Amino acid sequence: MPSFNPPLRTLMGPGPSDVHPRVLAAMARPTIGHLDPAFVGLMDDIKALLRQAFKTRNEVTFPISGPGSVGMEACFVNLVEPGDTVIVCRNGVFGGRMKENVERAGGVAIVVDDPWTRAVDPQRLEDALETNPQARLVAFVMAETSTGALSDASTLVQIAHRHGALAIVDAVTALGGVPLDVDGWDIDAIYSGTQKCLSCPPGLSPVSFGARALDKLRARKTPVQSWFLDLNLVLGYWSGAARRSYHHTAPINALYGLHEALLMLHEEGLEAAWARHALHHRALRAGLEAMDLRLAGADGERLPQLNVVGIPDGVDDARVRQTLLDDYDLEIGAGLGEFAGKAWRIGLMGQSASRRHVLACLTALGSAMA
Ligand code: PLP
Repeated sequence: MPSFNPPLRTLMGPGPSDVHPRVLAAMARPTIGHLDPAFVGLMDDIKALLRQAFKTRNEVTFPISGPGSVGMEACFVNLVEPGDTVIVCRNGVFGGRMKENVERAGGVAIVVDDPWTRAVDPQRLEDALETNPQARLVAFVMAETSTGALSDASTLVQIAHRHGALAIVDAVTALGGVPLDVDGWDIDAIYSGTQKCLSCPPGLSPVSFGARALDKLRARKTPVQSWFLDLNLVLGYWSGAARRSYHHTAPINALYGLHEALLMLHEEGLEAAWARHALHHRALRAGLEAMDLRLAGADGERLPQLNVVGIPDGVDDARVRQTLLDDYDLEIGAGLGEFAGKAWRIGLMGQSASRRHVLACLTALGSAMA
């Protein structure tokens, strides 16, 4: 059997995004031990760079070994105790997964539904908290990858706090692509993924926990039901304490990659990266509209990094995506959930938010639909 040599694709789906050669080269460096002093130094640098990316001073800021779903699960298993009421704002597929997580952690999920493609409505959250004053937590997806909706995290967190609840925020698609300010917005717990706007291969989930979340964790009456994700244990390896103890064997080379990608984000500057995503979103939108294609969603609520495009009547969704892949080596995403067969999802994430990507996508799509 020959070695596997993947085709060279241009990735413009909902993630993974294109990975820069600098990140791939970093991942190919020699593997060292996960308790090697040199590696422990790298871990400290990754934590410092992640704090910058999240805009936080939270000491507990580190990448969990596992994809974004593991970051999601880590937040819920640590912060939800059996019997806790959690308000879950659901405006797409990933809000639905939050509900699942709450229930599997023994919590009671009160779901506040918003229409797909729309941002989470702050008033509905306010109403749900008024009728459920026992709620301890609020959870929502800031950047819904299934619908392209951007929610106002700052306002939603303020509402949660006004009602004495903590806020868990999904920033899997948000981090690096749109303004996000964990400390400025007082977010209690947040998780992300590496394969979207950080442009790393998938497999790591940056998380950050603030003081209130850690207090809730410390006050638990029941142990965290997951051994692997119990923050009390994993922090023995990742915390700033002088001695790091073995918890699990960290994905060493994946962490080299994350370090390099975070360095690149730092070199570009967070604000510049957000502006780059916004610029290429505007260009893509103009090009799509010139082809009579329309973006779903409402003005002011669209993610620049994930564009949901209605498929015109009579156009064969699967055939177009296959042609893009076969003839142009270009991947765009299919619709998810309610949007299956009705919309495409075009990602402009991280390295894939560039003029080259926008032009390649518009040209290929125009030709594939002809
Ligand atoms: N949350 C959101 C908003 C996502 O877009 C995704 C993945 O697309 C996830 C969670 C889960 O991340 P992963 O697929 O890395 O497990």
